[in-house]
Amino acid sequence: MPKQKLIDKYNRHLNYLRISITDRCNLQCIYCMPRDLIPRLPHSDILSYEEILRIVRVGVSLGISKVRITGGEPLVRKGVYDFLSQLSRIDGLCDIALTTNGVFLKDNIEKIKAAGIKRINISLDTLNKNKYREITGYDRFDHVWEGIKIAHEMGFDPIKLNMVALNGVNENEMTDFAALSFSYPFHIRFIEYMPIGKSRMKYGPLLLVPEIKKRINVLGKLVPVTKDIHDGPAERYKLEGAKGEIGFIGALSHHFCNKCNRLRLTASGQLRPCLLSDHQEDLRSIMRKGCSDTEISEIFLAAVRHKPSDHNLSINHTGNVSCQMSSIGG
Ligand code: SAM
Ligand code: SF4
Repeated sequence: MPKQKLIDKYNRHLNYLRISITDRCNLQCIYCMPRDLIPRLPHSDILSYEEILRIVRVGVSLGISKVRITGGEPLVRKGVYDFLSQLSRIDGLCDIALTTNGVFLKDNIEKIKAAGIKRINISLDTLNKNKYREITGYDRFDHVWEGIKIAHEMGFDPIKLNMVALNGVNENEMTDFAALSFSYPFHIRFIEYMPIGKSRMKYGPLLLVPEIKKRINVLGKLVPVTKDIHDGPAERYKLEGAKGEIGFIGALSHHFCNKCNRLRLTASGQLRPCLLSDHQEDLRSIMRKGCSDTEISEIFLAAVRHKPSDHNLSINHTGNVSCQMSSIGG
């Protein structure tokens, strides 16, 4: 395995690259992609698959060992299955995961498996069909749920369900989601809503991890799970007697920056050291001017130097990040 060279001044080992391969999406979640507010990037501004693969190879030579493909919705991009296969053939990557809204899962699960993907995160914010339409703008709940069950039957493990906790929208579903971990070996991830970019969300009081935990406690005791090297910021637990796990990502209530192991590559080729700060290093421009791999490495190292110790988004202090989640990839 290549020596880890991506270590920042706070001694964080940045071994995890999250890659948004498109800013497009087939859903319009109220908290992420407000209709008519966000112009699409021109196709020429989006990195080609070859460009992304080259960046990953250089990243691996510097110590990146885990990659997650996200978007926008990654499965809407043409050629994605072939790209995933090429990615899984890169030596030195031990973990390749996919984050998807699950709409295309059911019809493409064989292709995802054949491409070498074993770990999938599926975003699902409600178990109620009508609410699903309200949140995403589309009537796709059944399709997504079938896709999740098929992925489970085909042995994808773990399957993580990402649920963004939204007061006034799905706040009454915390226990229903947590209870899924008794019936299935799924990892249920409760994510605090992060008020960034343009959004039509009205910020009331936010539903934060301590309150979510309190609600889930009626189902039993949350027992901490031992973390592994690729875990990143989620706090992991298991309800006693459950098959699956419960995780919490509390970007606002519990700054986890001291454990952050991530860099992010946006669809337009910007390398971002932090989700919640707008600093980015431009890889696309230098690559299109014919740069060498050494120059790409230098951009990685510059991003590492600019990784902030902490983000400054907090419960009372919002709106500092102008970039959309759909272009960064979450
Ligand atoms: N389209 C794919 C999906 O929905 O899984 C991948 C991209 S999406 C931007 C990645 C993750 O970011 C999703 O789990 C989504 O729920 C989450 N997300 C988007 N906007 C968010 C926000 N404002 N706060 C917290 N999570 C957010
Ligand atoms: Fe699309 Fe994912 Fe954003 Fe929803 S969260 S609008 S599915 S990119």
